[in-house]
Formats: sequence, C-alpha cells, structure tokens
Amino acid sequence: MANIKCIGILTSGGDAPGMNAAIRAVTRTAIYNELEVKGIFRGYKGLLTGEIVPFKTNNVSNIIQQGGTILKTARCIEFREPEGRKIAYETLQKEEIDALVVIGGDGSLTGARIFAQEYEFPIVGLPGTIDNDLYGTDTTIGYDTALNTIMEAVDKIRDTASSHERLFFIEVMGRDAGFLALNGAIASGAEAAIIPEIWTEVDQLEELIKNGFRKSKNSSIVLVAESEITGGAMGMAERVQKEYPQYDVRVTILGHIQRGGSPTACDRILASRMGEAAIDALMEDQRNVMIGIQNDSIVYVPFSKAIKKEKPINRDLLNTLRILST
Ligand code: ADP
Repeated sequence: MANIKCIGILTSGGDAPGMNAAIRAVTRTAIYNELEVKGIFRGYKGLLTGEIVPFKTNNVSNIIQQGGTILKTARCIEFREPEGRKIAYETLQKEEIDALVVIGGDGSLTGARIFAQEYEFPIVGLPGTIDNDLYGTDTTIGYDTALNTIMEAVDKIRDTASSHERLFFIEVMGRDAGFLALNGAIASGAEAAIIPEIWTEVDQLEELIKNGFRKSKNSSIVLVAESEITGGAMGMAERVQKEYPQYDVRVTILGHIQRGGSPTACDRILASRMGEAAIDALMEDQRNVMIGIQNDSIVYVPFSKAIKKEKPINRDLLNTLRILST
C-alpha cells in the first residue's frame, strides 16, 4: 500500500438512505486496518471550508439505521472550477489526508474523477444514489429503500384510486432513469410505467390508452419517471385531459418522501459490504474506481465507465409488467 495513513470520507450530492451505513463501514474497516479516518462535512464544500474532524469508532455508533447522512451533504459550485479544487487539495495536504472515499451519485463521482486526475490523488467512490443510474453496478446504495417507499405509497394511493374509479399518474424520482418507475410499478401492481429509456421508441401513453388500460378494472395507476423527456406526471395528465376527457385523472408527485427513511436490510448490507470494499481497494492500490456489485460479488469499476456509460434498463421487465397488468 502506497503510504496511505489517513483516509478522508465525504458524502456529496443527493442524500440516499444507507449512506450512514457506508460511512460506518468505511470508518470501522479503516480503523481495523490501523488507518486514521477524518470525516469531511458537507461534501466537497468541507474541503474548501476545512470542516473536518477525526473519526473514531464511536463517531459512527448508532447510525446504521438512520436515513440521510451524518456528514451532511451539499452541492459545491466552487469545486467545478480549478481554483476551488486547488483549495481542496491544499486542505487535504494540511490535514494530512492521503486518500479519499467519496459517497455520492453521478455528479459527485465526476468531480472525484477530475480531482483525482488533476492531483494524482487516490480516490475510491461508492455509488450512493436512489436513482440506480450508475453503470457497472447492479444496484446503488439507497435504491432498494426508495423502491420500498414508492411501493408503500402506491399501495395507499390505490385505495383512493379504486374507491373513486380514477386514473392516477404517480411521478417518481430517477433523474432521467426509469429503474424506480419500472420496478416500482411491478412491486406495487401498477398498470404501467412510463420511462424515458423507451419514450422516443414508442408513445407509451398512446399505447396505454389504446389498450383501454386494464379493461376489467375500474381504476388505473401509472408510474411516471421524472424527466424532461416524458414531461413527467403533469405532462401525462395534461395530455389525457386534452385528448381523452372521459377519464378522471389525478396526479401525485411523491417527491422527497422517496429519499428519506430508515434504510432497508438490503441497503444496509450493500453499504456495509461496499464500505469495507472501499478500504480494501485503497489498500490494494486501486485508484479512481467506484465499488460496484455484480451478481452478488464486489467489483471495481473505473470512474470513466461508471459515469460515462449509460446503464441499460432490463427490457424483460417491461414485458413482465405488461403481461401482469392485463
Ligand atoms: P450527485 O452526486 O447526486 O449526482 P450533483 O450532480 O449535484 O449530485 O454533484 C454533486 C457535487 O459534485 C457538485 O455540487 C460538485 O461539487 C461536484 N461535481 C459535479 N459535477 C462536477 C464536475 N463536472 N466537475 C467538478 N465537480 C463536479
């Protein structure tokens, strides 16, 4: 291991349930391996302001079950500029931090990649995002919890939908990725999912209306991925009201409820495994990689792939949803 004595850890971008479990795992694995750990607060901002504290075992006690992130998170515009990153590097030198573990989504790992290249600084990333939109990993920290939250919310909305015989468009998060919408629809027994990945190939709304929704049912629930491409749930509802005024349409935007809450067992275990793997990777002299999971095994994914490559949606799932909603 190339002279790594102290590891800095930060969470950045959108918060995701399970980030705390990852912070705990990184901290404890580092301490187990006789490394020092420093917690950096508010993402990359903490590297500019110097909000950094030494982390011991008890700093991460009693957090595995908490949503959000004890390290806080922030968006840091300055880090996008070379001057900002220079200050960040100087802070790391001053604090004698030799390597970083960055937990975050696409944007955070993009920043990590640029910084690592600019200063030849060892960084390992963990995929922390409810959107599941990072290439090279079957799932991301927070995705399973968000999926369960969506399922529970849709279960509740269905009571009203069926009592009033309404058509509900429910918008879920995903930042132009349809994983939450598609799997959320299957898990909650919704009639359809409208996702950006196939929007330009087929007019999913037209298809839905043509099929008469589910003919034997008096209510319908459609999950819509938030996206400029599809226009989201509001866009769908406006179109239906204009073109098919016979339907009684309602819109629910689940919003930030999807980010919060105690992480599921799946997310806690995933975050724990990935957190341990981040320290293992640094000790094996891995650089500029994101920890991923493929077929239940830990893998190292180069930042360039994790960020740049589009993660494909499993199209078989569209068929499953279509068959099960007939
Ligand atoms: P997420 O990690 O959830 O995708 P953001 O896209 O907001 O969240 O990114 C989080 C932070 O990562 C930004 O506020 C910024 O500090 C940093 N970042 C994102 N993109 C870049 C970039 N191209 N160059 C440098 N830093 C970046």
